[in-house]
Amino acid sequence: MHIGFLGLGNMGGPMARNLLKAGHSLTVFDPSLQATTALVELGARTAASPAELARDDVDAIVTMLPTAAHVKEVYLGTQGLLANVKPGALLIDSSTIDPLSSREVARLATAQDNPMLDAPVSGGTGGAAAGTLTFMVGGTASAFDQAQPLLAAMGKNIVHCGDNGNGLVAKIANNMLLGISMVGVAEAMALGHVLGMDAKVLAGIINTSSGRCWSSEINNPFPGVVESAPASRGYSGGFGTELMLKDLGLATEAARHAKQPVVLGAAAQQLYQTFSLQGHGNLDFSAIINLFSRDDLQ
Ligand code: NAD
Repeated sequence: MHIGFLGLGNMGGPMARNLLKAGHSLTVFDPSLQATTALVELGARTAASPAELARDDVDAIVTMLPTAAHVKEVYLGTQGLLANVKPGALLIDSSTIDPLSSREVARLATAQDNPMLDAPVSGGTGGAAAGTLTFMVGGTASAFDQAQPLLAAMGKNIVHCGDNGNGLVAKIANNMLLGISMVGVAEAMALGHVLGMDAKVLAGIINTSSGRCWSSEINNPFPGVVESAPASRGYSGGFGTELMLKDLGLATEAARHAKQPVVLGAAAQQLYQTFSLQGHGNLDFSAIINLFSRDDLQ
């Protein structure tokens, strides 16, 4: 299949490489010359603009962009993808954005006979490189079926979540819970530590008891408890505080639109915002334990 790919960053770059590896031909666009050069060296063609990419007889287009503003800029307007792509071509947006913006773009795409899916991912840059991402997909069943071979080249777990926007609903609801659970684990670990408990023993109790969750077991925020966790390497790598903050912002904003209370989600957002303001936005989000700790945990 001939595929257009826009947004060749930390996630999009490796995802595009996996499409090439699976035998698809690619036309790519990214304002970063460095990002496009890396793909051209592997056999991709480049386009000078989203419009040129869309006119390159592509059967499908995948986008992996930072924000909803980027997605709207790339898809809409006379120089955008929708105005220039051939009818019937499949559109897949894997960016993490708010469900309302995604549904707006999908409605315009569908109206002109371009099936569109939101297909946000989890699994991080490691999953993108290994081709083991989880895709949470929103859109019609027929578009989902059409997208299967492409998504299977980039991911392992591909879940149809319902109509347009529902992939993003799944993504932001899960990440809101993750943000909250990490704050809870951080509070519990800091409390146990200050009351004199060995952190490893406490984590062992939690992980065989009812407090157990991914934040306690796999990504425990206390240094040295889980050797493979970011906490045990100075909170480097992992899922950055800024990215968590972005996802919590999407969740609380969607909740505001729906007039739905997200009390703990909003509180978690404020805590990560405070931590980011202190200059720690690049650290893994588990470093939030330092907000509650008397010792400087590294
Ligand atoms: P990134 O900043 O590394 O990459 C974004 C890329 O988009 C850059 O190469 C940038 O040059 C390009 N871009 C900007 N404007 C463009 C335009 N008009 N046309 C084409 N390309 C354009 O970001 P990332 O980490 O790859 O994240 C992409 C999306 O994936 C975000 O929505 C993010 O929230 C989501 N996400 C990221 C991770 C992660 O671990 N990094 C995990 C899951 C989801």
